[in-house]
Formats: sequence, C-alpha cells, structure tokens
Amino acid sequence: MADGGWRMADGGENDCGCDAGFPARPLVAGWKACPTPALAYDRGVLTVEEAQACVLAEVAILGAESVRFDDAFGRVLREDVIAPFDAPEAGNSAMDGYAVRAEDLPGRLRVIETIAAGHLATSRVESGTAMRIMTGAYVPEGADAVVQVELTNGGVDFVEVQSALARGANVRKRGEDMRAGDVVLKRGTRIGAAEIAVLAGVQKVSVEVGRKPEVAILSTGDELIDVTESRAPGKIVNTNAPLLVALVRAAGATPRVLGIVPDTREATIAALREAASCDFIVTSGGVSVGAFDFVKDALDALGAETKFWRVAMKPGKPVVLSRLGDSICFGLPGNPVSCFVSFHLFVAAALRKAAGEEGSLLPSEVRVRLTAPLRAADRRVYFRVRIFAKDGELIAQPLASQGSGSLTSMTGANGLAVVEANTRIEAGALATTLLIGPL
Ligand code: AMP
Ligand code: MG
Repeated sequence: MADGGWRMADGGENDCGCDAGFPARPLVAGWKACPTPALAYDRGVLTVEEAQACVLAEVAILGAESVRFDDAFGRVLREDVIAPFDAPEAGNSAMDGYAVRAEDLPGRLRVIETIAAGHLATSRVESGTAMRIMTGAYVPEGADAVVQVELTNGGVDFVEVQSALARGANVRKRGEDMRAGDVVLKRGTRIGAAEIAVLAGVQKVSVEVGRKPEVAILSTGDELIDVTESRAPGKIVNTNAPLLVALVRAAGATPRVLGIVPDTREATIAALREAASCDFIVTSGGVSVGAFDFVKDALDALGAETKFWRVAMKPGKPVVLSRLGDSICFGLPGNPVSCFVSFHLFVAAALRKAAGEEGSLLPSEVRVRLTAPLRAADRRVYFRVRIFAKDGELIAQPLASQGSGSLTSMTGANGLAVVEANTRIEAGALATTLLIGPL
C-alpha cells in the first residue's frame, strides 16, 4: 500500500458512490481514510449536463492560421467567406438542348449555331431560330429558354418541338448559386468536401482555419505494456492510447502520445508537467479512489485547478477536469469503455470548441426504438447500441456485452442509449440516444 493510499472496501466499481466527500462505506482495515475535507474542488457529483457546461465554459478558442483551401478538409473555418462575384456569372443552360425564344414554341426552328460548354455564341437567337446548346454554356442573347434535346427531334439544321415551354425554363439564372457579397460559408463551420468545393468556386485559395488543438495522451498503469511488447502475467496491452489517438483525430485535433506512466506520484507529476505544453491533456486510468490512482494528487501537487472529478454516470463516474497552466486536463477512467464514453461526452466537444467550431458541439440526440430492455440502477447509464434504420424508423440494438472493461462491446457502437437512474426502458419503447458514429 502506497503512503496516503486508500480504497473503498467493496472493491466494486472504481467510484465511491457517495455524494459529498468521503467515505460513505467502510474502509478496509488499516487503509487510510480519504481526506474527507474538502479538496477545494470537491463539489460533489456533477450531472453530465453540469459537467459538460463546465467543460465548455473552461475551453478557450485557440488562434487561427492560414492554409490552402485544399488542405482545409476537417478544419474549422475562422472567417466568413464572401462570394466576390455572381455564380453563375451569366444565365447558362441546365440541359443539353436548344436555346430558343419561348414564344416560338411549339414549332419548327432553324438551327443557326452550336454552343459547347466553355464557348460563347457569335450571334443572337432571332424569332424562328434556335441554337444547339450544351449544359453549362451561356444562353445566347435573344433566347429566353432551353428545350431539352429529348423533347425535340434532335435536328441539326432544323429542330421540331411539339410542346410549349415557359420563359426561363432550363436556364440557370445569373447569381442563382451565389451573389457577389453573399456570405457563402460562415465562420465556425467544419470544412468538409462540399465546403472545399465552395472555397474553390469563389477562388478562395488561402483560408483562415482554427489551429488544431494538440492533445497529449498519457496512459497511467503499471499493468500496461505497449502493443509490440511481449505479454507477461498481470500485464495488459495499452489499448486506451490508440483508442484516444483515433478519437482525438476524429475530433479534428492532433494527438501526441506521451507513453505509459508508472503508478507513482512522482512519475505522474513528471508526465503531467511534460504534457502541460499541449493545449489539452487526456490521461487514462488512475483517477479513481484506488491506492495507486495518482492523477488527481499529481494535478494538485502541480497547482492545477480541478473543476470536477465525479460525474453521475455509468460507465465513467470518475472523470477529472482540471486546468493545468494553459492546458486543460481530462482525467478519464482506465476502463476502455469508460474512457471511450467519457471522451464522447466531454472531450470531443472541448476539442471542437477549441478549434473554433460553432453550433451544437455535443453529440446529437435521436429517439430510437429499443430491441431489448435497458435498466439503470442508481446512476444514469450510457449503453452502447447499434442504431440502424428500418421501415422509416431508427432501431437500436444494445450490444451484447455492456461490461466497462469489454473492448469488443465498443465495436460497432454508433450510439449511446441514455437510461436515467432507477429507470427501465422496455423493448419496443423509445430511448434517447446520442449519436457517436454514422448510421
Ligand atoms: P484504473 O482507472 O487505473 O483503475 O483502471 C481501471 C481498469 O482499466 C483496469 O482494469 C486497468 O487495467 C484498465 N486500464 C487502465 N488503463 C488502460 C489502458 N491504457 N488500456 C487498457 N486498459 C486500461
Ligand atoms: Mg490504474
């Protein structure tokens, strides 16, 4: 037993379950009691919503930088993008067909020119004439509509059109897509493929985007070995670091893996000190009430300002939010599933805010019909589910295993079904579910 260590007697899940201070349950004989008095930050157990609000309030928006538009995929736009010209710049054809005067139809018209996309007509359409025109070509002067080739006899010298046509038919008007001066992309937008196309469309070659948050990843635990190390009794592979790397990247940030931290106070302090040069620190493990859980202690020793360390949820009750210098530290639980769930609930939104993303940052909620009942005891539970659409409805199938140590229970999960404390949701009933992946 390390000096100063203490642990709850029941050895159950790594949280003490008491609301204000310690300890609510008996301690194992001989172990030291947790210093009930109040750690300055001991504000009891926060609800998930309180913790999320606290996270978002703590996170500052990082600076911006210029990148080429085609390197901006996945970045957050930090300027409004304004169209410098109308697009299209002139009325153009939405169809392959014939540019005509609507008043001439139906009728037989003399074809006087063929206009390919990218080329301009050399004359104008007069009454009784037409020009063959390809999609995208500017509609020539004199014409006010385009009749699609399928509605004609396809003639080269003369064209016959049986039906009437409204003026403006199949003509894309000048400025129909964007008008000079329009804000075509708003700051705070996450840039995807469509946004890159718009940037190209307005010839915005260089664009201001939020700096990518740098996230130090620390894995605490004497039991951990690296993925390439030989297995040994008592040791487990560090799966949280690669899990977090992937989650950090998916949230648009840059991971910096700082390795495995032995379960000592000194090592934890040293590792956190090194990590504090990053915008964010995400640790896994060592945040609970075990004898070898040093993350909170080390943060205290470094003078960090801890905002909360317990959230009323399962999995993942011990979750730490702390400000260490200019860095924000998330102490996530060691259990892989707890780590995964608490990242989705707290860290992802923080990284997105830091990059300057605006709008709703937290996971979207959908209502889904459960295929099996779900039940929560004294705390709100987030169940991993697979959501799919069937007959116009969203169905959620809880994954077979819901153990917080089960790696396989995370695969295929694209939702977290929320079941409030002391509640049961029956099979066939609707449950609020957070979307954490594509359907
Ligand atoms: P802790 O929160 O440190 O008590 O860890 C809780 C559980 O999570 C223990 O069973 C650990 O072995 C496991 N665990 C902690 N860190 C990791 C990690 N990096 N990768 C996989 N499992 C871990
Ligand atoms: Mg540990």
